[in-house]
Amino acid sequence: MKTCRHAQRTMNFYAGPSTLPLSVLEELAETIVDYHGSGLSLIETSHRSPMYDRVHNRAIDLVRELLGVPRSYHVLFLGGGATLQFSMVPMNLIPPGGGCDFVLSGTWAEKAMEDAEKIGNVRVVFDGRADGYVTLPRDVRTSEGSCYLHITSNETINGVQWKRFPATADVPVVADMSSDIMSRRFDAEAFGVIYAGAQKNLGAAGVTVVIIRDDLVESKRPGLTAYLRYATHAEKSSLYNTPPVFSVYTLCLVLEWVRSQGGVEEIERMNKKKSAAVYDAIDAGCGFYSSPVDRDVRSTMNVVFRLPTEEMERRFVAEAEAAGMIGLKGHRSVGGCRASLYNALPEEWADALADFMGDFLRRNG
Ligand SMILES: *Cc1c(COP(=O)(O)O)cnc(C)c1O
Repeated sequence: MKTCRHAQRTMNFYAGPSTLPLSVLEELAETIVDYHGSGLSLIETSHRSPMYDRVHNRAIDLVRELLGVPRSYHVLFLGGGATLQFSMVPMNLIPPGGGCDFVLSGTWAEKAMEDAEKIGNVRVVFDGRADGYVTLPRDVRTSEGSCYLHITSNETINGVQWKRFPATADVPVVADMSSDIMSRRFDAEAFGVIYAGAQKNLGAAGVTVVIIRDDLVESKRPGLTAYLRYATHAEKSSLYNTPPVFSVYTLCLVLEWVRSQGGVEEIERMNKKKSAAVYDAIDAGCGFYSSPVDRDVRSTMNVVFRLPTEEMERRFVAEAEAAGMIGLKGHRSVGGCRASLYNALPEEWADALADFMGDFLRRNG
């Protein structure tokens, strides 16, 4: 096999797994056989070796540094995707007979809630279903005795994103940040638990980042098996069992990349520019393109839009693909189109899409 230089990149707008920084992919390719002259690959060395330990701890430190996570929180690397957190959160935080509050903001919140309902009493404090998930509540009133309030910071399928997180007096907020973690600054201390699968903004599928406040680590439910308890992982610094080594390494490289870009603040600035380019193209279409989402909660990560007919949407997606832009079809459950503009997506790709949208409108509008 020959090594190849990937100068020609397909413009990847998929919602996840999604585009990664080219420099990260190249570094992975370069180091996968021989990790920095060690004569070993990182994926064939012990997860208890000093070689892996450095990567593991560096990744934890970078999550802390980039997101401003204080010492009173644990940063955990778990398996099972964000989906396992749909059950781990209620299993650990809700004692037998207890319950939690849910903001039903979209498809992912719905999935998280379905699992929580199997474990505790769930009260829905906002229900966006009737409107088709296009808006978010201004305020949330949590219920008496609730163990936590669950929110989804960005609804990947519906394109709805919290801009100001709800403040609750004494009920911890748990947030699924799978599709917008590291995309903007936020106050980590406003949350009890944050979880995110890696394959949108953080790297390759396989590792889930969980950030959990000290006082929530001990399980409220007796009898949980070892892997399902946060305490197990917190005590062993996420080395209770073999961590997803390759995904943690990729995560580490992506976080170094975020740092080299100027950190989350700079990433946020770029993300605003990218999404503004595409939303401007939608708004400039005078109704040809339309966003179903309330203007003040439109996602900077997943731009959801419609064209006048489904036939037109099919042509749009096909012609975009012919022009080198893939992944623009909306999720099968909602239809339409969706452009995912995660951290690693270059500004030029967002501009190229906006140009293509203008061109498509001129030809078909
Ligand atoms: C992708 C996604 C998930 C599912 O993540 P897995 O890692 O596949 O389990 C959950 N929540 C949100 C908001 C997502 O975008």
